[in-house]
Amino acid sequence: MISHKEPRQIEQFINKQEKLANHCSYGIGGRAEYFASPRSITELVELLRYCSQQGLEYTIFGIGSNVLFSDQPSANIMYVSLKELLQFDVKDNEWFVSAGIPMSMLALAGELIQSEDFQFTHLLPGSFGAGIYMNAKYYHGQIGDVISRVYYLDMAEPSLEIKSIPVEECKYGYKQSIFQEKPWIVLGADITVEDYPSLSETEIESILERYMLMKDNKSNLMQFHAFFSGEMKRLSQPETPIFIQEIEEYRSKNKHFINHSCGSYFKNNYDIGQSIGALVDHLQMKGTTYGGAMISPHHGNMLINVNDATAGDILHLQRIISEAIYKEYGFIPEPEVQIIK
Ligand SMILES: Cc1cc2nc3c(=O)[nH]c(=O)nc-3n(C[C@H](O)[C@H](O)[C@H](O)COP(=O)(O)OP(=O)(O)OC[C@H]3O[C@@H](n4cnc5c(N)ncnc54)[C@H](O)[C@@H]3O)c2cc1C
Repeated sequence: MISHKEPRQIEQFINKQEKLANHCSYGIGGRAEYFASPRSITELVELLRYCSQQGLEYTIFGIGSNVLFSDQPSANIMYVSLKELLQFDVKDNEWFVSAGIPMSMLALAGELIQSEDFQFTHLLPGSFGAGIYMNAKYYHGQIGDVISRVYYLDMAEPSLEIKSIPVEECKYGYKQSIFQEKPWIVLGADITVEDYPSLSETEIESILERYMLMKDNKSNLMQFHAFFSGEMKRLSQPETPIFIQEIEEYRSKNKHFINHSCGSYFKNNYDIGQSIGALVDHLQMKGTTYGGAMISPHHGNMLINVNDATAGDILHLQRIISEAIYKEYGFIPEPEVQIIK
C-alpha cells in the first residue's frame, strides 16, 4: 500500500533558478525557472495541480542518469525530479518500493535476505521509477522481471487518482514498456519475494536514512558509487558474491563512475548483430572530442562530459556518430538518453 508523508506547503518545495546540471549525472543543464522534488505522492499531486492552474508544462525525471538537459531550459516548464520520493515498505514477503528509491538499493535488500535475484541492480545508476519506465537491465536481469504490480498517475485523467497495473500488462521488452506509450507517472511498484526470509524493515530503513544524508549529491556518480559499493561491502562480508564482484570490475574498467555520462548513449540495434559500441570502435571514433565532450576512449557508446561540455557539444558528437553509422551500416542509431528541452 502507498502511504503519504506529511505534505509541505507548495512554496517550500519549488525552487527558482535551479541549475539542472546539479540534478543529472552529465553535469550539464542551465538554470530552470521552476524546479521541484516532491517527497510524497500528495506533494506530487499538489504540484501537478499547481502546474495546471499556472499554465505551466512539466517534465518528470528521477535521478537524472539518462537525461541530457538543455543549456537553456524553457521558462514555461516545471522540472520535476522524483528522487526524493523515498519509501520502502515491507510486509511479510511483499515490498512496496517507491519511484525515487535508487535501483541499487534493491541489490542491498536482496543481499540482506540472501537472494541473488536483485544482484543485477548493484551499481545500476538511476531511480526505480525510471527503471520501471525504461525496463533498465544489466546482463540477464531486468526490472520488468522482478516486479509484480506498478502504481501510477494517469495524467490524461484530471482526478489524478492512483492506479495500478499488473506486470503482465506492462508490455515489457528490450528497454521498452507501456509507460513509454502513455502519459503516466510511475509512483512505485510491488515486489513479491517468495522463498526467502522476511526483509528487516529496520535494516533497510537505516540504509535509506544514510542514503538521505547524500542530500543534493544523489545524482553524482562518484558519490553514488562510493555509497552503494561501501554498503554492499559491509553487508556481504566475509565474501562478496561473484556476480557483484564482476559488476564492480566491469563498471570500474569502463570508468562508469569517473566520467560524467548517461551510460550508453544509443540503444543497441540487435538486427545488426553488433553493439553500437563495437560499431563506433570499428569506425575508429573512440576518443573523438568536440568542445568539452568526448566519445569515451574506453567505450564507443559513451559520450562523456570531460571539460564543462554543453548539451550542444554532446549533440554534435551524437550527430557525427549517427552520420558515420548511417554511411557505413545503413541505419541511424536511436538515442537511449532522453533529450529534455
Ligand atoms: C554510468 C552509467 C551506467 C549505466 N548503465 C546502465 C545499464 O547497465 N543498464 C541500463 O538499463 N541503464 C543504464 N544506465 C542508464 C540509467 O541507469 C537508466 O536509464 C535508469 O533507468 C535511469 O534512471 P534515472 O532515475 O536516472 O532516470 P532519469 O534520467 O532521471 O529519467 C529518464 C527518463 O525516464 C522517465 N522517467 C523517470 N522517472 C519516471 C517516473 N517515475 N515515471 C515516468 N517516467 C519516468 C522520464 O521520461 C525521464 O526523462 C546507466 C547510466 C549511467 C550514467
